[in-house]
Amino acid sequence: MRTIACALMFSAAIAATAQQKPIILHDAALVDGTGAQIRPHVDITLHKGYIESVKPAFKKAPKDADIIDCTGKTVIPGLISAHSHLGILLDNATPSANAYTTENVTAALNQFERYGVTTIVSLGLNRDLVYELRDQQRAGKLGGATLLTAGRGFGVPNGAPGLDVAPDQIYRPANADEARKDVNELAGHHADLVKFWLDSGHGKIPPMDPAVYTAILEEAHKHHMKVAAHVYNLADARSLVNANIDILAHSVRDQAVDPAFAQSLIAHKIWYIPTLTLDETFYVYASDPDVMKSSFFQQAAGPQLLAKLQAPDYAEKTLASPQTEQAKKDHEIAMKNLKTLYDAGVSIAFGTDSGAVPGRIPGFTEHRELEDLVAAGMTPLQAITLATGENGRLLHELNPKLSVGLIKQDYSADLLILSADPLMDVRNTRHIEAVYHHGVLVPNTPPQN
Ligand SMILES: [Zn+2]
Repeated sequence: MRTIACALMFSAAIAATAQQKPIILHDAALVDGTGAQIRPHVDITLHKGYIESVKPAFKKAPKDADIIDCTGKTVIPGLISAHSHLGILLDNATPSANAYTTENVTAALNQFERYGVTTIVSLGLNRDLVYELRDQQRAGKLGGATLLTAGRGFGVPNGAPGLDVAPDQIYRPANADEARKDVNELAGHHADLVKFWLDSGHGKIPPMDPAVYTAILEEAHKHHMKVAAHVYNLADARSLVNANIDILAHSVRDQAVDPAFAQSLIAHKIWYIPTLTLDETFYVYASDPDVMKSSFFQQAAGPQLLAKLQAPDYAEKTLASPQTEQAKKDHEIAMKNLKTLYDAGVSIAFGTDSGAVPGRIPGFTEHRELEDLVAAGMTPLQAITLATGENGRLLHELNPKLSVGLIKQDYSADLLILSADPLMDVRNTRHIEAVYHHGVLVPNTPPQN
């Protein structure tokens, strides 16, 4: 799967590692991202940014390699978020139309990477600056989590998304012709996919006209671009399936899904991203303040957000809000629907909506999402597989040059060394001893507790 184009794409990152000797992660327990059970006593060799080999642990150390003893450690692939956002919040805490700056976006990409999320899809609400940053990153001039982007994304005039962003962070076409023109502009930027919002906010805002989303889908598919949709209710999700959507970017949350719906997703090869933490972040810091205790959380949140969440009246106000009651219901339904769809065999991807609102914290929220997937009835191995190998499969569909999500020969050397076994307790993904991204050790990994 490793191609010349792929090697060129990350040329500078590779240049940085080209002179280095291979690195052998020696005697690790391996969770490789395929869903296979843990494999003890494995040597993983990283070279020039890629996984060179995965073999039984050596008895006699080879020469000309740097050896890192991983006895008692578990290695998993770098996590991937297929639904995140950049440049919406200042300091993780304050929505601002001025937040989409190189400095702020770069800080978020670095935070994702430090927390072991080595690839993200920024699913809409990006200024066109995103294409420059992506180019710089591909040229090896900018670090942080590998970035794929849907560019601006498509909302509705006076409708969704109701976030405080700059006008050049979103297209709001008034009709199908405008939508087609905007998709062509997006295709000209080589966006990795297309995103639109279909949501009437419980009947309070105008939903997207089906003629507009049909035009978006047709035009995007002409350009061989996949399309993801923000969705909330089952009726809308059904309409989108019939309109040839590729990715449902959130859970269905108004009612239980049925087997016929599951079968339609399978038949049309549609991906479903549950984003379970999305609803939870509206209330969890009030209902379960222990979530905020760890340094692992606090460092990700940062002082401004912590001050908001720990303010004396925050918990009381949040728990009394009607939005909380709704979000709790939505979360419950999302968990049940995930289990139904997963058991039916639907392709489930992994994403969090991190970066969209305060409390959905880049890097931390992905670890919390793993915990929520397990709470919804998945095993830790199944949850980790969604965030790694399965998401890698989705990203490979978006960009065939990208081989991420598995610890397998010729895949990008993106991985986490954990000091505790995440299959025993999924929260052990937080015990990060080291993160490697393109075979390079990432500095400043977070505190483990
Ligand atoms: Zn989103």
